Amino acid sequence: MISAQRSLSSSGGRMTPQRRMILETLESLTDHPTAEQLYVVVHARAPEINRSTVYRTLNWLETEGLVSSRRFNGDQRAGQFDPRPACDHHHFICTECDLVVEFEHPLIDTIIADFQRDHALEVCEASIVLRGVCPACRARLTQTAREAA
Ligand SMILES: [Zn+2]
Ligand SMILES: [Zn+2]
Repeated sequence: MISAQRSLSSSGGRMTPQRRMILETLESLTDHPTAEQLYVVVHARAPEINRSTVYRTLNWLETEGLVSSRRFNGDQRAGQFDPRPACDHHHFICTECDLVVEFEHPLIDTIIADFQRDHALEVCEASIVLRGVCPACRARLTQTAREAA
């Protein structure tokens, strides 16, 4: 993965301390928060950063290709922010607790490469979203089912 710093210096973007702090907060969260969820965490750490700064910074970071927004649940208002570019990984989402697990697999890259070659086209973005139940939720659901029986 290209580090944020490296891709920034090549694109000539302007990383201010506030923007860096917002990006670092996003990177520290593993659950791909919405802008509002990120704002709550940022504001708790740095009360001087307001909501519109967080929203504007997310737009800027996305324009710079440093983060990507995702619409896992199809709701346009609930875009979730991913501290990684759109093209380099895929996601598993737990339908019970919204846990996000990121994954990559060389076979997926092979499929895309074959498809591009066979159809003489260029794929710009690929995102596979697997939905299911994480181990903790599965254990909880199994327990509940057992108690109900
Ligand atoms: Zn991700
Ligand atoms: Zn879960």
